[in-house]
Amino acid sequence: MEQPWINFRSDTVTLPTAEMREAMAQAEVGDDVYGEDPSVNRLEELAAAKVGKEAALFVTSGTQGNLVSVLAHTHKGDEVLLEKESHIYYYEVGGMSALGGLIPRLLDSEGGIFSAEAVRKALRGDNIHFPRTSLLCLENTHNRAGGTYWTPAQVAEVAAAAKEAGLRVHVDGARIFNAAVAQGVDVIELTAPVDSVQFCLSKGLGAPVGSMVAGSKEFIARARKWRKMLGGGMRQAGVLAAAGIIALEKMVDRLAEDHALARKIGQELVNIPFLGVDLERLQTNILVVSVDPAWGTAQELLGKLRERGILATDFGPQKVRFVTHEDVGEKDAAKLIKALKEIMS
Ligand SMILES: *Cc1c(COP(=O)(O)O)cnc(C)c1O
Repeated sequence: MEQPWINFRSDTVTLPTAEMREAMAQAEVGDDVYGEDPSVNRLEELAAAKVGKEAALFVTSGTQGNLVSVLAHTHKGDEVLLEKESHIYYYEVGGMSALGGLIPRLLDSEGGIFSAEAVRKALRGDNIHFPRTSLLCLENTHNRAGGTYWTPAQVAEVAAAAKEAGLRVHVDGARIFNAAVAQGVDVIELTAPVDSVQFCLSKGLGAPVGSMVAGSKEFIARARKWRKMLGGGMRQAGVLAAAGIIALEKMVDRLAEDHALARKIGQELVNIPFLGVDLERLQTNILVVSVDPAWGTAQELLGKLRERGILATDFGPQKVRFVTHEDVGEKDAAKLIKALKEIMS
């Protein structure tokens, strides 16, 4: 299907593949609130197996997946440790505080990654004045840091520090398959050390709707109840799950193409005046470019790109984010590079 724009705004813009649409049309369905949708049940089993957990839950979005996870791990008034620009803190409407009565404690990081030492330092110990700290969240890949990934060793190290202090660990793995593919490791190496993970079907994996939460059976039972309370108990959701199954079975390996394309673009942008690219942080499909104020602002650059039929997102007053995905290719990348050369010169 032809798209009117060259769209680098996000990998969420990917349209379902022809195979997904066919599977959606043919999906066997039932009422999932009664646990009777065979396609949803199959997706949940497949997702749990992929990330090496006992059980999984199909949720409406990554935001809902993170929220039900955080709620299922905590009690009202608890403190949650998370990175200061993490999606859960920055982009999820304050749900953990508004709906969970939770207080965030923010950790500094280097490119989205923090150390076990940083976790230990943030733990204040037992004292009548302090809230109970019950959860640590990390984000893999880290969106605002530019798609940087945690290695299995880094995850294991912080998870061990958290567990030592009695905390649970949740991974916002909206793009955890990007993290796995970029490092050439099985995703299980990134999920084994933690209690729960959320990942998106609707980003680079190309499904139209939905995310998965995975963890122990007992955790998923609690998350399922929270999902119902939040209005996420869907009925014949198998039409959506059918696309999710294809996303998981067929779309994971091709993420490598998105990473290669992002890198190719990044390497070209290094030579364009007034643009800054950190190639070290360009590890997956997210390319964050800084705009020199001597040229103008992120908004001005976005406006000029838009005139040429190209979309991207602002990531602050002087930063623009480009995301590669299935529906942009080499030709689009060439047009983007040409446009940027013209605009910046
Ligand atoms: C996109 C994203 C989410 C939320 O997913 P939605 O489906 O948009 O709600 C959560 N975490 C990260 C890191 C993301 O990039």
